[in-house]
Amino acid sequence: MKKHNFYAGPSILPEFTIKNTAEAVVNFAGTGLSVMEVSHRSKEFVEVMEKAIALVKELLDVPAGYEVIFVGGGASTQFCTVPYNLLNKKAAYLNTGSWAAKAQKEAKLFGEVIEVASSKDKNYNYIPKGFEVPADVDYLHITSNNTIYGTEIKTDLDLGVRLVADMSSDIFSRPVDISKYDIIYAGAQKNLAPSGVTVAIVKEDALGKVDRAIPTMLDYRTHIDKGSMFNTPPVLPVYAALQTLTWLKDNGGIQAMNKKNVEKATLLYDEIDNNKFFKATVEAQEDRSIMNICFVMNEEYAELEKDFMELATSKGCVGIKGHRSVGGFRASTYNALPRESVEVLVAAMKEFASKH
Ligand code: PMP
Repeated sequence: MKKHNFYAGPSILPEFTIKNTAEAVVNFAGTGLSVMEVSHRSKEFVEVMEKAIALVKELLDVPAGYEVIFVGGGASTQFCTVPYNLLNKKAAYLNTGSWAAKAQKEAKLFGEVIEVASSKDKNYNYIPKGFEVPADVDYLHITSNNTIYGTEIKTDLDLGVRLVADMSSDIFSRPVDISKYDIIYAGAQKNLAPSGVTVAIVKEDALGKVDRAIPTMLDYRTHIDKGSMFNTPPVLPVYAALQTLTWLKDNGGIQAMNKKNVEKATLLYDEIDNNKFFKATVEAQEDRSIMNICFVMNEEYAELEKDFMELATSKGCVGIKGHRSVGGFRASTYNALPRESVEVLVAAMKEFASKH
């Protein structure tokens, strides 16, 4: 039976990425060698890295003065790389979920941290609004999409300070005005590639402003200056990332992807809102993520949760169990998830309602 992959990450990748990467694992660029057994300094791989960097710049319309790097260590390493490189005295953090809180915790190792607002009081089911950011902070850190709670900041904030964003779970899903940000980082394992590589977009002007010594591998400058080849990069994930970026471009780029993502999300949220058995955990439309759609059984039907899980599973839906800190269900609708998969889930919800 066809599987409909709603996992939150690692998660669905385009078939194009899986097939091409599988082929390159056997025979990479006609070398007769696997992509896993060629030097990262070979001309074939150098070309992969250069193309991947160029495509990120092209797809996201990255302006002059910014560099794109691919590094290891996951988004979690960026939680400390950001303050290491940017925090002199004080930084502001917006607490919209446990990843945001983890980023904030790391920053405290480097200076004063001001939590400008938090939605923890309601289990992170909304995005705080109207908060003020002191003008003298080195930067404001936000998590644009909160993978666990299904909230998303879909506009580019402009609060008069440097802006750093963890876009791990919504990068490439919607157009972003890069010029509003100083650093954007994202672990690959949602919209890009298998885990093992992180992409960062760095405004060069934001660097070189801290007094501390920075360990070589955590210094953005190192990776910028060496074209992400200072040390051995995660070769296979970078190869896969190039495939996904190529697929993105061939399928109309970010605008086209966003249109499809909004359609998929609307389809599912509409069913959640109109089906009396289910309830979205995020009420405000403008806060609802188009990548991670969280819903629970309505209180009076709470005991039917297992039944719906069984029905959805019988239709091929995989990975819809909500994160333990929210419960219920979470359907992740990343770029590579076809509309058909959302239709199957919605049909299961309708069938469930008619059966009960
Ligand atoms: N930030 C967000 C928004 C996430 O969803 C995750 C989990 N994938 C992380 C950071 C941590 O990423 P990693 O596992 O790559 O360190």
